[in-house]
Amino acid sequence: MVVRMRHTRAHTANRRSHHALKASNLVTCKNCQAFKAPHKVCDACGFYKGKKAVAVKSKKQVTKA
Ligand SMILES: [Zn+2]
Repeated sequence: MVVRMRHTRAHTANRRSHHALKASNLVTCKNCQAFKAPHKVCDACGFYKGKKAVAVKSKKQVTKA
């Protein structure tokens, strides 16, 4: 740290008060109940808003559209 740039511990702590990480929000897929990010196509089954949105290349298909 450059001495010229030094400031108080309170100043540093105030800046770092925004550094905490938040847990990511997860919802369950209505089609396969897997956890997925909200407003995103389900990773596990490719469904979005109750319809097949994208093809999923996975070992086992959960449901057939
Ligand atoms: Zn799903």
